[in-house]
Amino acid sequence: MEKKALQILKQKYGYTTFRKGQVNIIKNILAKKNVIGVMATGGGKSLCFQIPALIFSGITIVISPLISLMKDQVDSLKILGIDAISINSSLSKEEFFEAYSKLKTKKIKLLYLSPEKLENKKFITFLKSLDISMIAVDEAHCISQWGHDFRTSYLKIPNFINALKKDIPILALTATATPKVIKDIEILLNLKNSTKYVDGFDRKNIFFKVEKNINPEAYIIRYIKSHKEMSGIIYASTRKEVDNLYQYLKEIKQLDVGKYHAGMSKKERIISQENFLNDNIKVMISTNAFGMGIDKSNVRYVIHRNIPKDLESYYQEAGRAGRDGLPSEAILLFFEEDVNTQEFFINSNDIASDEFIKIKRTKLDDMVNYAYLESCYREYILKYFGDKRIKNYCGNCGNCKNAKDIEDLTIDSKIIISCIGRAKEKIGTSTLVNILLGKVDSKIERKGLNKISTFGLMKQREQNWLEEFLNFLISENIIELTAGSFPVLKLNKISFDIIKDKKKVYRKINETVSLNFYNDPLFKSLNNIRKEISIKENVAPYIIFSDFTLMEMAEKKPKNRWEMLKIKGVGNQKFKNYGDIFLKAINSFSNEELEILKIENFIDEKYLSDTKLKNLKKNLNVNLDINSLKEILIKNLFSN
Ligand code: ADP
Ligand code: MG
Repeated sequence: MEKKALQILKQKYGYTTFRKGQVNIIKNILAKKNVIGVMATGGGKSLCFQIPALIFSGITIVISPLISLMKDQVDSLKILGIDAISINSSLSKEEFFEAYSKLKTKKIKLLYLSPEKLENKKFITFLKSLDISMIAVDEAHCISQWGHDFRTSYLKIPNFINALKKDIPILALTATATPKVIKDIEILLNLKNSTKYVDGFDRKNIFFKVEKNINPEAYIIRYIKSHKEMSGIIYASTRKEVDNLYQYLKEIKQLDVGKYHAGMSKKERIISQENFLNDNIKVMISTNAFGMGIDKSNVRYVIHRNIPKDLESYYQEAGRAGRDGLPSEAILLFFEEDVNTQEFFINSNDIASDEFIKIKRTKLDDMVNYAYLESCYREYILKYFGDKRIKNYCGNCGNCKNAKDIEDLTIDSKIIISCIGRAKEKIGTSTLVNILLGKVDSKIERKGLNKISTFGLMKQREQNWLEEFLNFLISENIIELTAGSFPVLKLNKISFDIIKDKKKVYRKINETVSLNFYNDPLFKSLNNIRKEISIKENVAPYIIFSDFTLMEMAEKKPKNRWEMLKIKGVGNQKFKNYGDIFLKAINSFSNEELEILKIENFIDEKYLSDTKLKNLKKNLNVNLDINSLKEILIKNLFSN
């Protein structure tokens, strides 16, 4: 039996080995034992029921709290050639009957159900007539009031299970289980004699950090701009906060962001969510209403604009970054006034008992302590969840990294501050950059700014570096930028402290995640192909292939079917559907790079106009998009 599981993993899913937790859970389920499985987000819980479902002869029922979660999984399974359907309140009458008849006639392997559907007696009688092999309860913590996602409808699950045959194995899965929650799952689902498997909670690929005393808007803008190719979520604590930030980023700063909160209409929310899942917008600004149904695997960062109510929420929300295992960041922006907001929420709950309020307060305290922490962030979080394996140093969080890797930029900052002062706080960033680089434009000449002592004083720096550094100074509140259509730079108390040597300016080196592949032309080209397929097939891009899979393709450049099947995430079915398209792109890309290197004499800036590029693409008959072609040409231009 286990051999069979491994075979399915390889052939259907394209992965070579099971993760530790998966082996244990699948083994027990196949032996028809009840199991409670606790694994971190992204740990691979879905396979724990999907693979047994394929081995068992009958149907596996999966109870899942959100329609979007079910859709995501059913879409993924269909692409793998596995028959799965979901029955939930979003189905029309026709769709509902279609699902019924499929269950009766076709070989459906997985049936996803929303808990609201579990009370209907007729429906249960119908299910009884089918061959049910197993029941999986996903996000099982929703059954506990001690959890942070309690759903009354989950309390209907035990009756439902009882109504079905007795010897069906039950698998309860969750990512956020404190001992109290596990106990509730055990008792309420009647799983007392089950096998428990609690995996570590560590999300090694996520870099945790906290930012204090910064200007949040400037920080966020700077972050989005320096992570342009990547997906991220920005959480804020209230609808109003989401609206304000959205308006500022989208309408004033013209950044490509979306928003999501419960105050929007259902239609608006669906459109916004789909845009994010399909990579049409990279950044989502939202309240905690967004995300539980989000299994999007390539979210690269999660920024909390405000402190959340407890570490359970924080770790779950932050954990939406990096499901694909690639380096990702979780950043908490901390401001004391946000603690007051959370306290207000706690106090305004009239019906809660004193005991309940006390628990909430303690949880908030634990969260605030995290923000003030000077030791390893990861150690603190894991300890909170009862995992004591990390001691003092993880090497991959803001505090573990902080000690080293910083540069002293006080002198540069002093020059900039004094330049703003000498220009009488009347210039914007681009003029300032020109002055520092010693460039004269008409405005500088007219105002005599080329005569001030700081003119040309930072000539040795690159323009990009300077612009980025100014953004850094603004986001750290060291200098300020006024609002309005002609923003000018202003000084504040911190600026003067620096001039007077009362304070220094340090910046962390390499503080951003390095994911060079997002700029790799082959990756970009494969990414575009994935996008085209996703539009054609009407599923999210990450469901076709994860970013991780595309990066491995871009790195290893597989040449044939065998090499392609060795790439993680490429199984038989996916190869059958998409293998050739991607192989062709990779092969033609490698040939093309060589081809282009041969053409030496035509390369000058003029050649890079879009029309010329299009012609070149046509002449060479290459399977590249214009931008990738341009990048290769530029790379070539500068290496010659
Ligand atoms: P969870 O439900 O625990 O949060 P998922 O089931 O959504 O996690 O899986 C997270 C990601 O890990 C998915 O992209 C999945 O394809 C991948 N994955 C799962 N199992 C394996 C494995 N054995 N090897 C490689 N990748 C895996
Ligand atoms: Mg899951």
